[in-house]
Amino acid sequence: MKKHLLFLGAPGAGKGTQAELLSQSNSYLHLSTGELLRKEIEKDSILGRQVKDIINRGELVSDELVLELVRQKLYKGNNGWILDGYPRNLSQANSLSKVLNEINQPLEIVFYLDIPEEVLIHRLLLRGRKDDTEETIRTRVDIYKKTTEPLIQYFKDLSLLEYIDADRDLKTISSEIKQKMA
Ligand code: ADP
Repeated sequence: MKKHLLFLGAPGAGKGTQAELLSQSNSYLHLSTGELLRKEIEKDSILGRQVKDIINRGELVSDELVLELVRQKLYKGNNGWILDGYPRNLSQANSLSKVLNEINQPLEIVFYLDIPEEVLIHRLLLRGRKDDTEETIRTRVDIYKKTTEPLIQYFKDLSLLEYIDADRDLKTISSEIKQKMA
């Protein structure tokens, strides 16, 4: 069974939901950079104050900052982990690869949750998180296409990519994921 997983896909593709389900059933660490950053905002920490406006505009926070968050969590012991929302660009992918080398826990599989753009915009508007306004969604989808989508080819070249049709119901998707990681 694979223990070092990554979910890739547009905002609204369902990465968080699937990662959460899987991490609970396998006692893996679920590492969502978006979730970690939102918690810092809630706590009104120094870090939270630093990133609040950036996140509410739908832009990416700095690579150094998210790397530090991820590094801290991964360095602690774990049963396995699922990365969700990280990496989001090639520079983050390169930093991640260094950290994973250091801790000797290579990435084993990347699930790319694919979904048509109309569907994801609809899902995000329904979700209604603070950074789910129409304008912010547009920014996030644009950034996703420009900076995150190239990672699909990056992981394909490393023979790690597994394609998942994410425009189906939750359970169908999660059972396909479980099959593929077995
Ligand atoms: P979604 O994938 O639905 O856009 P996330 O919860 O993954 O939502 O991320 C929310 C916001 O947090 C992003 O729009 C961005 O501002 C910030 N963020 C999350 N992960 C990263 C990352 N790896 N690098 C930079 N910014 C990030």
